[in-house]
Amino acid sequence: MSFIDSHTHIYLRGAQDLEAMSAAGVEGVVICSYFPVKPTGPTTLIDLHRWLAEGESERLKNYGITAFLAVGIHPRCIPSTGVNQVLEHLASFFESGRAMALGEVGLETASEEEAKVLVKQIELAKSYDLPMIFHTPRQNKSQVFDRLLKLIGSQKVEWSKVIIDHLTLELAARTKTLGANIGITVQPGKMAEKDVISVVNNIGAEDIMVNSDLSNQPSDPLTVPKVARALCEAGLSKGDVEKVTYLNAKMVLNFR
Ligand SMILES: [Zn+2]
Repeated sequence: MSFIDSHTHIYLRGAQDLEAMSAAGVEGVVICSYFPVKPTGPTTLIDLHRWLAEGESERLKNYGITAFLAVGIHPRCIPSTGVNQVLEHLASFFESGRAMALGEVGLETASEEEAKVLVKQIELAKSYDLPMIFHTPRQNKSQVFDRLLKLIGSQKVEWSKVIIDHLTLELAARTKTLGANIGITVQPGKMAEKDVISVVNNIGAEDIMVNSDLSNQPSDPLTVPKVARALCEAGLSKGDVEKVTYLNAKMVLNFR
């Protein structure tokens, strides 16, 4: 089987992980931009995005893994100065096709500043008709989720372009009713393999994408192949397993 890991920060991991992923059938990886400290100025994110586009895609290619780049200002990474410069830089990446999605963006505390920066990014991605990958936080997840949906809805974005990530069982069902895509992160402290089995049994395999949210925090590069094995062992059909670990992401993100 082939797999796509639909949400990673793989640039924070080493070569051995790439080797293991490649050997396990991970064919594609979505790289979401995120910087682990609050930037003091715009160039931090501008250079991060250059690294991801210029260096990281090539590095993955050496292991037979296709990179799909999403760029944006994560709510924990809003620079202290120069937000507009970063927005201009995002526009140039979308214009040139160096990035194929907005992400990851969203709300962490749902402050006014976060909401303002998010709306500007949604407007920008909408003007390029791009998919958008939204983060939801660990703290106050369902309240922040409600606020996030209101903001996305107010921008009249096509829900089929929206991926809402790190969802719980309950929020997955609510996301499904909107027609948006459901990101499920399997990681210590987030969802487990058995939760993915429950979600698929409850609401079906359409619109669901499993990911590792691979970063320098505890996370497993083989998450997606391991989830696929667990789903097969739980008796789910091969078609459904393929949808949640490969096909849905491939279709929504237009993976080539
Ligand atoms: Zn992430």
